[in-house]
Amino acid sequence: MSLSQLARSICESPTLKLNETAALLRDRGEPVIHLGGGEPKSKAPIDAIVSCSALLQTGDVKYTPADGIPSLKKAIIRYTEEHYDRLAAPENVIASSGAKQSIMVMLHAILDPKEEVIFPVPYWVSYPEMIKLAGGVPIPVAARDGGFEPTVEELAEAVGPYTKAIILNSPNNPSGVVYSDELIAGVVELCEKRNLYLIMDDTYNRLIFDGRVPTNCYRFTQVRSLDSSKLVVINCVSKMYAMTGFRIGWAIGGKELIRAMTNIQSQETSGPAAPSQWAAVGALNGVQSSIESLRLTLENNRNVMMTRLAAFDGVRVVKPGGTFYCFPDFSACERDSQKLSRLLLDKVRVVTVPGREFGMEGHLRLSFCGTVKDITEGIDRIKWALDPGAPNELYLGDRKLVRDWR
Ligand code: PLP
Repeated sequence: MSLSQLARSICESPTLKLNETAALLRDRGEPVIHLGGGEPKSKAPIDAIVSCSALLQTGDVKYTPADGIPSLKKAIIRYTEEHYDRLAAPENVIASSGAKQSIMVMLHAILDPKEEVIFPVPYWVSYPEMIKLAGGVPIPVAARDGGFEPTVEELAEAVGPYTKAIILNSPNNPSGVVYSDELIAGVVELCEKRNLYLIMDDTYNRLIFDGRVPTNCYRFTQVRSLDSSKLVVINCVSKMYAMTGFRIGWAIGGKELIRAMTNIQSQETSGPAAPSQWAAVGALNGVQSSIESLRLTLENNRNVMMTRLAAFDGVRVVKPGGTFYCFPDFSACERDSQKLSRLLLDKVRVVTVPGREFGMEGHLRLSFCGTVKDITEGIDRIKWALDPGAPNELYLGDRKLVRDWR
């Protein structure tokens, strides 16, 4: 088969692949615990369902404007005013099929071949592949202290003649770390000084814990007008409203950029699916209590996971300040994260995501978006698999496992 160089250079999404593997094993009746997932268990808000159903019942489901229906743009504008204190015009907004598509069309709109995009390590698995798809070069920047938040100086050192943009994702997938205001303010300033785009991926912005409030990146900009600014904020209903399957995300940016992104989106896919757009209108304009209730559930789950992980010898964990992921360092048990993840799936049927996919060997990404039962049992199984001092046998339901490794 003859495939393009580009197709051959792009890796499959490891997280989606893991979902498939877990589903296949479950279909075979295997007692799989999925700690690799990236979506809340809760249902979509009722206002989203009502709004979506109302359209479906008309049977009149047609193409929409490529950048989204006016009602959705209006809801996004209101959301932006409420949560970011910025007044956007409809021309500053594009709605896409998920935050992923908003980021993708933005990269297509700004990158010339071989231009570079900088982002901190650890990073969301898709950034490097998306940048490559748009013809650019991914430049991951690791913190010299081995932590999850590089300094502004470390990011600035990576800026060169080909740098076009920096991406920041806070709270961060996979570490759960909420970047300091100092970092966000410093990167906003750096991008304004060096005339770079700053893509703020705020996908998990409101899923934060311990009484912290979401950071509004616009607070740090010197450029008041959205149209003169190269700061672009990405959001979606996927995680906050537990609406991953609806595939609605958006970007707020300067009119010229949004127009270019709309042109690209109109040629690639046209507007997002109309029922999904109406569902997002319902979610954004409806009762907002589901976000707080999800946030509280996740904070409790995070606490359960932290308590469980504290029982591990040698495993280092940074307490996540947001999202539904944590990213413990298992290198004291096994440095090769793919090998470790495979062992946990093969032996104790727990799905985890290898840290290598996020640019950090020795770590595993563990999700706490499932049930408390899954979290406790999943971590207990991992502990049993990795602790040479643990009893030789473990029961998964009525199946007896006997340690034949280590
Ligand atoms: N950005 C980050 C950091 C994510 O973790 C994800 C999904 O996992 C996305 C963007 C994509 O969101 P969506 O499902 O709306 O495309």
